Amino acid sequence: MIMNHIRKTAFGYSTQCNIKCEHCVAAEDGYGHIKMELPRARDIIDEMAAANVKAISFTAGEPLIFLSDILSLVRLCKKHGIYSRVVSNGFWAT
Ligand code: SF4
Repeated sequence: MIMNHIRKTAFGYSTQCNIKCEHCVAAEDGYGHIKMELPRARDIIDEMAAANVKAISFTAGEPLIFLSDILSLVRLCKKHGIYSRVVSNGFWAT
């Protein structure tokens, strides 16, 4: 029997957010300023690609606080053929 698992994962780049929802996973860190270093995040995505991860969701804290970093990570996902999406609270909308 051939197993064809679709591997999807959530990726928390930081716990920083401009909103403080009680239910948020970032609440455990006090909505602090914990952020991964960008080169480390890129290495993890390379490792995920090697592990056949097919989809990454950038999520809590608020990913778009670090727009240029997230753009870099989304581009890296595209290079690896990994579907990516960003879950945002929409703070940037007018
Ligand atoms: S990351 Fe999302 S769920 Fe968490 S505090 Fe911010 S808006 Fe709320």
